[in-house]
Amino acid sequence: MTQTARAAVCRDWNQPVGVEEIQVEAPRRNEVMIKLHACGVCHSDLSAATGVIPFPPPLVLGHEGAGEIVQVGEGVTDFQIGDRVITSFVSMCGTCRYCNAGRPVLCETVNSALTTLPDGSVRTHDSNGNALNIFSGCGVMAEYATLHVNNVVPVTEDVPMDRAALVGCAVMTGVGAVFNTAQMEPGSIAVVFGAGGVGLNVIQGCRIAGARQIVAVDMSEEKLATAREFGATDVVVADEKAAKTIRKLTRGGADYAFECVGRGKVAEQAYASLGKGGTVIVVGVAPREDMTTIRTLSLPAEERGIRGSWFGSARPRYDFPRLFGLYAKGDLMLDELVTQRYTIDQAAQAFADMEAGRNARGVITFA
Ligand code: NAD
Ligand code: ZN
Repeated sequence: MTQTARAAVCRDWNQPVGVEEIQVEAPRRNEVMIKLHACGVCHSDLSAATGVIPFPPPLVLGHEGAGEIVQVGEGVTDFQIGDRVITSFVSMCGTCRYCNAGRPVLCETVNSALTTLPDGSVRTHDSNGNALNIFSGCGVMAEYATLHVNNVVPVTEDVPMDRAALVGCAVMTGVGAVFNTAQMEPGSIAVVFGAGGVGLNVIQGCRIAGARQIVAVDMSEEKLATAREFGATDVVVADEKAAKTIRKLTRGGADYAFECVGRGKVAEQAYASLGKGGTVIVVGVAPREDMTTIRTLSLPAEERGIRGSWFGSARPRYDFPRLFGLYAKGDLMLDELVTQRYTIDQAAQAFADMEAGRNARGVITFA
């Protein structure tokens, strides 16, 4: 059955995000429809709304959702109506070379589902019957959404849905960058550039992994205060001298430097704050034309490294339960991440607040 849903839609880059009534079609083969309970507002949604991530509008935003299954399509065997799920924004086929290698975020089919479902079509239309693209196989900043089963993961623990939603991007991306991508050893020295929704999760990932020193870097004093709550042992206000300050603070530089802003210049600062043998992990999503320049010789001579991390190198059905387990144990802070709740009709405000840096994470909740 088709459902009418209020949804946050980007109609034009650099225009305030609008909220409109859309039609969401029933699930087809291997698809499910979910009724959203909550959806986090990620900087990547903002980047899609400004064209930094060049997903063509009209685009239903949202890729950090939690909800319950209300309809199941033909062939769906592992979900039933009423199941609580969170979304996973990387489409994965389960059969290609990368999926088989345990690296499903690199799935060969991923590019076919950047603004549609994996089969290249959408279940979303506006009130005039025109097709609407969806953010990364999701488009879950909406009361209802139809997704491929591979883009939903069961919620295994009794986690409130507004917090569970954040595991679908910020938490998996941040903690996974530490656990999966960096595979950080206990006792490491870490520095984290950008203490927003993703960076705070890198910080708490470093804390849980047993880092001995965690330096947070941000322009906002408020974000730095929050960073301390999440586990930062030192804080540095971002300026051109940040790398020098960090090398001094860490007595020679960090083992791992995480870039959680999305700018080549910040990646360069992260590289400059490493000690010998250190590695930069780039998490932030920069505009396509943005470049990073590093001294080539320092790679071999100091055994430095630079690598990227997409969605925390997630294996969602393995990693999400791990994260919920850490929350249940009291190690993973989810409650403290949600600093503001909005209705779907307040979506434009939620994006304005993100731009102004007012939240650790803002979450849209649905009645
Ligand atoms: P956010 O807006 O919540 O946080 C960004 C933080 O960076 C803010 O606190 C801001 O004050 C700070 N900042 C800005 N410029 C800075 C600078 N020059 N130096 C230090 N700090 C600076 O954003 P978010 O949701 O945490 O996302 C962060 C980045 O991660 C974005 O680029 C987003 O697109 C990207 N992202 C990547 C993935 C992935 O899979 N790799 C997933 C989600 C988000
Ligand atoms: Zn995101």
